[in-house]
Amino acid sequence: MKILITGAAGFIGSHLCDRFISGGHDVIGADSFITGSPENVSHLPPERFRLIQADVSTQDFDPGEEVGGVLHFASPASPVDFARIPLEIMDVNSLGTRRCLELAKRYNATFLMASTSEVYGDPLTHPQKESYFGNVNPRGVRSVYDESKRFSEAMADAYHRKFGLVVRTARIFNTYGPRMRLDDGRVIPAFIQRYMQGGALTIFGDGTQTRSFCHVFDLVEGIFRLFFSRYGSPVNLGNPAEFTILELAGIMEEITGRKQELEMHPLPDWDPKKRRPDITLAREILGWEPRVPLKDGLKTTLEWFMERYGGGQQPGME
Ligand code: NAD
Ligand code: UDP
Repeated sequence: MKILITGAAGFIGSHLCDRFISGGHDVIGADSFITGSPENVSHLPPERFRLIQADVSTQDFDPGEEVGGVLHFASPASPVDFARIPLEIMDVNSLGTRRCLELAKRYNATFLMASTSEVYGDPLTHPQKESYFGNVNPRGVRSVYDESKRFSEAMADAYHRKFGLVVRTARIFNTYGPRMRLDDGRVIPAFIQRYMQGGALTIFGDGTQTRSFCHVFDLVEGIFRLFFSRYGSPVNLGNPAEFTILELAGIMEEITGRKQELEMHPLPDWDPKKRRPDITLAREILGWEPRVPLKDGLKTTLEWFMERYGGGQQPGME
């Protein structure tokens, strides 16, 4: 099958290209490179992959050939970007989503969207099940992302009801791994950057807030299975192992063998206090669960960054 992936040159999008190509499919990517890089897909064989450079919110990216799937992964996803490019985020998750849905309708293709745990906001139930409607502030710095993703879900659902479009929705929780940007501000690359530069680890707030970190290899396997499943409602994909940010800093120390100072910073506005997916549904319908423990995934991710950015030392080699 030939599929189209928006955001293909980004972190998750590029790993998805790998997964579909290794699964025997051909991929057409569309990307504007606003937060991604063509380097992330430069290893892909040209006979199986091509890249269209386009802003999917405003430009045409119709591949001009039949596709069986449209996977919409174009969207900046880092809290640093929520402040830097808020309107671009709202556009790609509204105008961009609409264009993707139209394309999927034109080719009678399955539409799969990258939704997010952010649709649950600062959740009042824990862990989060798909049936929870969320506790989301429509204003404030995170709202451009949270609300536009909720809007995307609503629009995809409307296309399903009005036109019978086949829709799959992945509610993705914090994901990490190779090909993240070192300076994208998310906590794992931020800690790695600090380690490589020899600085203190930056802790926002008191570090007792929790997150659940899923390795990207696990995530793309879940997305691949969801795409081919017969399940039309949203599905949580993430790793249910939950860590405080201070625990994450401790794991960094264990891996690197280096005691690192902590540098305390104010907690950003509307930073969720807790986040952990309930993945019962994904286990049942996809037979999926994450396999990579955080410590192992963090170590190989650190190694990737050191190789990529020439950090010199290997983890544990002070
Ligand atoms: P990323 O920034 O690495 O990738 C996004 C890609 O989309 C980039 O290559 C960027 O250039 C491209 N893009 C953005 N706007 C575009 C536009 N208007 N037109 C064309 N291309 C555009 O981010 P990521 O972490 O890989 O996230 C990918 C998707 O997964 C996003 O939809 C994000 O909301 C979702 N998601 C990610 C996480 C996570 O932890 N990484 C969690 C939940 C959801
Ligand atoms: N965080 C931190 N130090 C950093 C970057 C982030 O303590 O250098 C915290 C942040 O406040 C949040 C958690 O780590 O509570 C995860 O942040 P990230 O930006 O990775 O993802 P998100 O908030 O979107 O889950």
